[in-house]
Amino acid sequence: MKYPFLNLADANAPYLAEIQEAIARVAASGRYIGGEENQLFESNLSEMTAGAHIVAVSNGLDALRLMMRALVITGKLNKGDEVIVPANTYVATILAIIDAELTPVLAEPSPVTHNLDTDRLAEYLTPLTRAVMAVHLYGRPCFDSSLRDFCLSKNLLLLEDNAQAIGAVAETEGLNQSAITGSLGHAAAFSFYPTKNIGAMGDAGAVATFDSQLAAAVRALANYGSDRRYHNIYAGFNCRMDPIQAAVLNVKLAHLDDENRYRQRLADTYLFGIKNPLVTLPAELNQGRQVWHQFVIRSNNRDRLRRYLADNGVQTDIHYATPPHLQPALNHLPHAPLPITERLADEVISLPITRTTSPTQAEEIAAIINNYQ
Ligand SMILES: *Cc1c(COP(=O)(O)O)cnc(C)c1O
Repeated sequence: MKYPFLNLADANAPYLAEIQEAIARVAASGRYIGGEENQLFESNLSEMTAGAHIVAVSNGLDALRLMMRALVITGKLNKGDEVIVPANTYVATILAIIDAELTPVLAEPSPVTHNLDTDRLAEYLTPLTRAVMAVHLYGRPCFDSSLRDFCLSKNLLLLEDNAQAIGAVAETEGLNQSAITGSLGHAAAFSFYPTKNIGAMGDAGAVATFDSQLAAAVRALANYGSDRRYHNIYAGFNCRMDPIQAAVLNVKLAHLDDENRYRQRLADTYLFGIKNPLVTLPAELNQGRQVWHQFVIRSNNRDRLRRYLADNGVQTDIHYATPPHLQPALNHLPHAPLPITERLADEVISLPITRTTSPTQAEEIAAIINNYQ
């Protein structure tokens, strides 16, 4: 393909020398679990998340699982409580809710933002509702005054799946609170899967929270449930972040702004350049900042458009073709009708939006889309 969707070696090329040096430092240190790189990573991410407590963990799913289990262990949630979650999220969000024996309540997204339709939250409220999981899908912050007011007035925890939106800024005008995603609610999970806006060279994740008791529970759960050496307060897990990954991430976190600016530049090229009535472009934010983890357009004959793009050398991807409630593992979940979720799954198509693609190539891709009929 002339226009590949993503090439991770290209994505890491600008930082490769620095990364190799960092990995060599860990290799020579003899410290292969925990240690300085992990502490530095936690303080770096804390600085970017309005000073939240950070716990470095093994991957994004584990970050979500530990966050949910720690909420139960600390008594902030109880088994069987309902968590409102967007039905069009990546499956991991829902797996984590189920893992903690909580009940996911699948809610429709807005077809404009692809995020939770915050005006429809009341439809999903029951006497068991205790939390809302906001997923900042495709790098667009899911946060507004109606979400915040809903959580406050119904006494619900606001949780964030920030796997796709590191560095994004919500629209919080007049709300007098931190606006950076990962610091908007009670606790947040991050993923550093290699394709994320900041990716490790393997799996990695993190939990962020201003609740020090919750942070301590997550940290203990990730380390066999021990609060100090050979002393187990919970039946925990081994979900620690490898220091080699922490070292890679310490290099890359310093370039978060460059990375997100590069994505914004490609997004602007597409938003300005694509003019075709058969294609719906993603909506822009009024304020704040989206970080374009994916650039997702829609078309009601998506598979035909995708074939046309492939025939013209443009590799695309679909996020996601099958929503969680239609997956074999989860199709037993009770849920209200989800026509918007199912329609979006049939219409979405993700264009290349990483360093694999140059701005000139993005202009060419826009021109190819404009010739589609
Ligand atoms: C990637 C992702 C996860 C899971 O992260 P891993 O590090 O791959 O386990 C969870 N939620 C969302 C929205 C994601 O995009």
